[in-house]
Amino acid sequence: MEVPLAAAEVDHFFPWILKERGEMRDADNIWNLVLACRTCNRGERGKFASVPKPWLVARLHERNNRLVDSHHPLRETIMLQTGTDADARASFLRARQQIARDHLIHEWEPWEQDSDNA
Ligand SMILES: [Zn+2]
Repeated sequence: MEVPLAAAEVDHFFPWILKERGEMRDADNIWNLVLACRTCNRGERGKFASVPKPWLVARLHERNNRLVDSHHPLRETIMLQTGTDADARASFLRARQQIARDHLIHEWEPWEQDSDNA
């Protein structure tokens, strides 16, 4: 289901608690911020302190690549934060995913498989 933009919330893809604990100090950076519906962000089955499943990490990689390949004002920022080419950015996200797995217990994906939390 498409989320009306007015209902979208900014979410930390890899959970903010990792930054709070000093385990992922760049978790506030733009590469890690996504739009999510309220259910995913803070609903009963929301993500909270869970690790997004690999297919979601792949989608984040695609999102970041789209920004870099565009004329979006954030493209330079994404490249500075995560790497100038797609391979470097993929390695970057794999490393962040590993940090998340090392410190958090549960994996998460949206309850409704409706890909509404791009
Ligand atoms: Zn959602």
